[in-house]
This record gives sequence, structure tokens and C-alpha cells, in this order.
Amino acid sequence: MTTFAELGLAPDILRALDDMGYATPTPIQEQVIPLALQGGDILGAAQTGTGKTAAFALPLIQRLLPFANTGTSPAKHPIRALILTPTRELAIQVEESIKSYTRHVPVRSLVVYGGVNINTQIPILKTGIEILVATPGRLLDHVQNKTLMLNQVNTLVLDEADRMLDMGFMPDLKRIVALLPTQRVNMMFSATFPEEIRKLADSILNTPTFIEVARNETAVTVTQVVHPVHHERKRQLLAHLIKSRELSQVLVFTGTKLGCNRLANELNKVGIHADAIHGDKTQQERIKALDAFKAGSIRVLVATDVAARGLDIEALPFVVNYDLPHNAEDYVHRIGRTGRAGAFGEAISLVSESETRYLKDIERLIGNAIEPTIVPGFEPGAADVPAYQSRPPRHERPSERHAERAPERHTERQPERQAERPERAAPRPRPAAASRDALFDAPYVPGEATTNASAPARPRPTQKKPVAALFRSPVKPDAAGQ
Ligand code: AMP
Repeated sequence: MTTFAELGLAPDILRALDDMGYATPTPIQEQVIPLALQGGDILGAAQTGTGKTAAFALPLIQRLLPFANTGTSPAKHPIRALILTPTRELAIQVEESIKSYTRHVPVRSLVVYGGVNINTQIPILKTGIEILVATPGRLLDHVQNKTLMLNQVNTLVLDEADRMLDMGFMPDLKRIVALLPTQRVNMMFSATFPEEIRKLADSILNTPTFIEVARNETAVTVTQVVHPVHHERKRQLLAHLIKSRELSQVLVFTGTKLGCNRLANELNKVGIHADAIHGDKTQQERIKALDAFKAGSIRVLVATDVAARGLDIEALPFVVNYDLPHNAEDYVHRIGRTGRAGAFGEAISLVSESETRYLKDIERLIGNAIEPTIVPGFEPGAADVPAYQSRPPRHERPSERHAERAPERHTERQPERQAERPERAAPRPRPAAASRDALFDAPYVPGEATTNASAPARPRPTQKKPVAALFRSPVKPDAAGQ
């Protein structure tokens, strides 16, 4: 097995890796580090969780060493490496990692992002730093205010380029790139490669080496579970799973800000300590919730995709898709929050009838069918749902109907020059063709609990049928007679 030393890293960097407990390089690190040490351009297909931060940061730090240890004046510490990320959370985490990797070498770093007072960032910039991690909007603010110069940048990293595209940063990116010296090393990472990303890569990278970490590189350590359930019973099922399986550190994804808040409240009401993060929460609130979650004082963190993007929580054991994402690639991103760097993880999806179409897209993308597991007492055909029956029909609940339609918007970046675009507004699921009665007709097949050494007990798949069929099967007294 290759070691970090064999990849050609300097002893002081190896020492930092040792401090952090990194024993061996991950596949992407093994491939990227030697190439980047040579100064070659790299186009990396890798998601969060593969170790890509260290893959680009370690060689970048090493190549800065000859510049870094001369004197302390700002003139000798111009920004030499620029790392752009789509969100402030990711920017903060990347810079935290860089601080750890540089603890034994005189290389300085700083993170700048929107949402905090720009004046607090200026004094640090004035002291001189070699590595700047930034979100595009705030970086341009500083350029415009002449509080930083980019004319000595010799390395550019674009992290999660597809997210930057989604969030409307392409014009800002182009403006930033135009401010950099043309002689430089470029590394670009993206989980997906739509046409615009390929064009961006063509325009920025110079005969890059393409490095791909298989999509399932992370997924092999993630057990994917699908629980079909009536949409009105999702909250109860989630609480049941958390309590009965004693799950902790559970990151739960919802599709809307309102749903996010409401779910956290409901969980708290039944004694499960939860908090919500979404685009309407301030930066301070989000950091506080994340810290509490990391420290274990919050058991469940309910998040929207926008707020959770780029979160780095080591060895996160459970991710729950409370609402399935409408974009299959978001599913891959979400479950990338677990099973990181070889740790065990489980991704649990609660799938209602109207979401089966999204599940199909997901299965097509990941090239795998996920066998559905019915949780006893939460059969998709269960008719005895007092809470559901006592509620007025949805069309008589206008405020809720309206609120649930509203996808999360990016209001949190208002101080940024170019506001991030709203999270891609996905079409609202229309009621499926099957009649509502058919929902109550599915046969009940009891689940069976199991334990294994590395994971808490979870029900085993009990159904070979596609999930949609579980919502539609006619009653067969023999099969349903449990
Ligand atoms: P990333 O994909 O860069 O977000 O990294 C995911 C997580 O894996 C982070 O918590 C890193 O600290 C951790 N990590 C990265 N490389 C290694 C490694 N070689 N050994 C152990 N953990 C690692």
C-alpha cells in the first residue's frame, strides 16, 4: 500500500498528517498528489468525502514552501494560491483543513466569505497570507475595495465547480480568472460534468490530466436503505427509527425550509433533540447548530441541500432523505456525507408514493436498484392513521400548501455582490396516477430486524418488488394476512 511519504510529500507535511491520524492516502490523493507536485493541471471527478481537499491542498502547500519562509512583511507574503468554493461552509472547512496541514510549516492561510463584516477580514489580509480560500462574491468585493491583490497567484483551485455553476457564480468566476496571471497551475474538481462545466474546464485548464474517483468509491461504505411509507406518516416513522434503533448524529434532508423547521420542532416535541439549518438562518445560527451537532448535544440536524452543502462532519453515521431530492445527483451528494474515508455509514430514504419517480431516477444514476424495506407498523398501505384522517384535506390547508411549494431561496448571501441563485426549483410532485384508495391496498409484509457488528440494527429488505408497486398492489388476503 502506498504511503504519503512515497507520494513525495515533505517531512513537515507528513508530520501534520500523522498528527491528524491520516494513515494512508485515499485513492484520489494517491493519484492527484504526485501529479500536482509536478505542477500539472488537473481535472478531478470527485465528490466530497473522497479526501479531495487534501489531494489538492497538500501538493499546493508543498509547492509554496520555497516562497513561505522568508521574512514576515506582507510584501513577501502575497496571495500565491487561490481556492474558490461555492459556499462559506465549504470555504471554512477547506481552510480549517489547510490550517491543520500547515501547522508545522510557515505557510499562512485565510478564508473570506460573505455574511460577515468585511472589515474584520481586512487586517488579516494586510499581514500577508499565501493561501486564500474564498467564495466568489466576497472575493470580488475585496478586489473592488483593493483590499487584496491577485497578481501573484500561481495556483488556482476550483472546488465543487458544478455547485458554483448551479449557484450562478459563472460570471464571477470568469471575472476572477481574468484577474490572475496566465502562468499558473490549475486544479478543478466537480462531482458532475454538464456541458457548461466542460466548457469552463476547457477555458481554464491547460492540457489537464483527468482523474476520476469512481462514484461508488464512497458508496461502498454506505448502506443504502429505502423505506416506502405513506407521506403523512414520515414524521412518525423517522422518530420511530431514531428511537428504536437508537440512532444518533443523524443528518436529515428536507426539500423546503418550512418542512425543515417543522420537522425539527416535531422531533423536539417527541423528545428527540433536533435543530434545523437552512438558508433563512444566519451564519452564526448555522455554525452554532453545526457545532452542537458535531459535539453530540444535538442528536438530529435537519437541513436543506443548500445549507448542508459542503458540510464536513467526520464519520457521520446516518443520513436520512426525509424528502427525496428531485435531482438524482443531489442524492449522491447527500449520501456522500456519510461513509467517508472508509468509515461505515447508512443512508436511509423515506419514500412516499409521489416520490417513487425520483427514486427511479436515482437508481438509474447510481446503476443500482435499492431494495425497499417496509418497517412494520408503517406499511405504505396502512389505513389506520388517525392523525392523517383527522386533518382536513390538503386543498383546505392553503397556508401549508403555499409554504410547501416554496423551494429554499438563497437569502443568506445578501451581503454578497452577486446573490447566489435559488436552489434549483424542482417541479412539485404531482399526485401519482393511482387512486388514493390503492395506497391503502398494498399487502403488508413484515420487516425483520437484524444486527451486524458494524451497524445498529435495521430492518432487512423484505420486498423484491419495485417501490412503486408497494403502493399499488391489490389486496391479496394470503399475502396480507399478517
Ligand atoms: P474531503 O473529501 O476532502 O471532504 O475529506 C473527507 C474527510 O476525510 C475529511 O474529514 C478528511 O479529514 C478525511 N480524510 C481525508 N483524507 C484522509 C486520509 N488519507 N485518511 C483519513 N482521513 C482522511
